[in-house]
Amino acid sequence: MSIMIFFDVNGTLIARDERTDIPYAEAVDELIGRENTMKGINTSARSDHDVLLEVLRRFGVAYSEYLWKKFLKIYEEKLESYRETDVWRPNADALEYLDYLRLRQVQLGLISGELKIGARYKLEKLGIWKYFPVGGFGEDGLRRFDIAENALKKAELHFGTRFQRVYIIGDTVQDIRTARHLGAKVVSITTGSNSRSELLLLKPDHLIDRFAELMGEDAPF
Ligand SMILES: [Mg+2]
Repeated sequence: MSIMIFFDVNGTLIARDERTDIPYAEAVDELIGRENTMKGINTSARSDHDVLLEVLRRFGVAYSEYLWKKFLKIYEEKLESYRETDVWRPNADALEYLDYLRLRQVQLGLISGELKIGARYKLEKLGIWKYFPVGGFGEDGLRRFDIAENALKKAELHFGTRFQRVYIIGDTVQDIRTARHLGAKVVSITTGSNSRSELLLLKPDHLIDRFAELMGEDAPF
């Protein structure tokens, strides 16, 4: 059976806390020329592009292609400056789980609202970027559903097949909704921005606290 597994990044592969988004927040501050411009903005499960548009509206700054290119340049500089720090750390036992999956007959990809360059810096820091040959990112759509549709199309092209089963593994209710939208199964992990009870309400196919729960005898893949 051909199985495709899409991982979310923040709160799933990467531990999510106030430090995770520092490079992005600093880049937005520098672009707008003010401090704490991201304060109070909910970034969970949203595309980086969508978040930037909201901050620009808040400060009455008109969006343009020029501004976007300028932002990308600043953001890359910030990512580079944080490369050797510990702002990006693995979530729970994510690294052990990826080691386990490498020995299984499954294909791996990403679905994230993060811009591709941000995801690359974060996952390279953890040494796991190389395991994800395809993905949908913040530049593939403003909304999670669009990003996911693009990710699946890219994966089908890349692996040259239509998958018999698709899974999404993520920490938010939005990951569950996205899986339903794609007709995929979903594993919810309780390490991110939604609580166990919030996740349970949407009835994920699997609900876990640690990836080890997917490595036992009843492992789904
Ligand atoms: Mg997440």
